[in-house]
Amino acid sequence: MADVSFLDWPFFEDRHRAFAEALDGWAAGLAVDHGDTDAACRALVRRLGADGWLAPTGAGEGERLDVRTLCLAREVLARHDGLADFAFAMQGLGMGAVTLFGTPVQREWLARTRAGEAIAGFALTEPRSGSDVANSTMTAVRDGGGWRLDGEKTWISNGGIADVYTVFARTGEAPGAKGLSAFLVPADTPGLTVAERLETVAPHPLATLRFAGVRVPGDALIGEPGAGFRIAMTVLDHFRPTVAAAALGFARRAMDEAVARVKAREIGGRPLAEMQMVQGHLADMGVAVDAAALLVYRAAWAKDRGQARITREAAMAKLFSTEEAQKVIDMAVQLHGGDGVRKGSVVERLYREIRALRIYEGASDVQRVVIARAVLEGGA
Ligand SMILES: Cc1cc2nc3c(=O)[nH]c(=O)nc-3n(C[C@H](O)[C@H](O)[C@H](O)COP(=O)(O)OP(=O)(O)OC[C@H]3O[C@@H](n4cnc5c(N)ncnc54)[C@H](O)[C@@H]3O)c2cc1C
Repeated sequence: MADVSFLDWPFFEDRHRAFAEALDGWAAGLAVDHGDTDAACRALVRRLGADGWLAPTGAGEGERLDVRTLCLAREVLARHDGLADFAFAMQGLGMGAVTLFGTPVQREWLARTRAGEAIAGFALTEPRSGSDVANSTMTAVRDGGGWRLDGEKTWISNGGIADVYTVFARTGEAPGAKGLSAFLVPADTPGLTVAERLETVAPHPLATLRFAGVRVPGDALIGEPGAGFRIAMTVLDHFRPTVAAAALGFARRAMDEAVARVKAREIGGRPLAEMQMVQGHLADMGVAVDAAALLVYRAAWAKDRGQARITREAAMAKLFSTEEAQKVIDMAVQLHGGDGVRKGSVVERLYREIRALRIYEGASDVQRVVIARAVLEGGA
């Protein structure tokens, strides 16, 4: 049974506690067939949407994104199933620009993504610009009243199964970061194809997308021309703490598995749990989990209470939570002995799931750069 005492922390309101408890109960009944990743992901989006759990991934008229709810959802889902977390997370990230900057017509997509009837993707990374977003080279040029998009996006989650993508391209108002714009592009737009499906250690739908003369109307532009970098960073400001929350969910699950294992497994006639060195490892894991949770929910609470930017808080949460989760999970594998690396065991799955979180939405060293900048400016 997971430790839920953190829900009593002052970061939360009763509605958060009720949400986390109810989602935990729902997710406990999930029996995801991971045989076909695309089919599993589609089914998860449908189920999450049908039962109302995707509502927090967007915000309609008069609503706003509640980052604490997004974080709680990811933590709870990650504890139960990594693909369920992924399915939830991408509906939010894929539609983040529309929620925060979209026109009423663009926002009509939200009704479908929040109901689980359409799948969303967020297309920022390119083959030669991952961490270095300002160097994006995909172009969008004016074409009559609309735009023509040419270039490639890679490592796109939900690539190949999404119905709609938020796409960032160079419109050239200024060099570097100030010359990018955001567009809403339905996946069936002529000229948009899946160039390659990408396989990873923990299977998720991922692809390289090719845009060859993709024509979109003028109202596909999200926000102002040249505002793409700011839009991307604002979206990530909301969603980066949720990556940290997912890592926290994986770490909590690893902790639960480790505790159950050391209580049950006897070595030399006594349970592993009685050995001080094992207890020392459990103590380190417990501290890492609680410290990560404090950073995650501090960042989410700061955003929800109206702090304009949480760049520093989000970077600290993501760096610490993902790096510590990797260590906690590694120790859980270690405490399981051979069973820890047995294909299909829970901790083996977590060991594969956690790895990419230290890379996507800003690799750990990029978070260190962000934090150092804040520290040097006197912001920490
Ligand atoms: C599973 C997965 C899902 C993804 N989903 C999406 C998605 O949905 N949409 C999307 O647009 N992208 C997505 N990505 C892409 C992801 O955001 C990039 O992989 C990430 O930003 C790193 O870019 P890169 O792979 O080009 O690595 P690079 O930019 O080449 O960086 C490689 C390494 O260099 C080091 N490094 C880079 N910059 C610095 C620096 N300034 N200082 C110090 N060290 C540095 C870090 O160690 C970093 O890990 C996904 C990636 C993965 C693995």
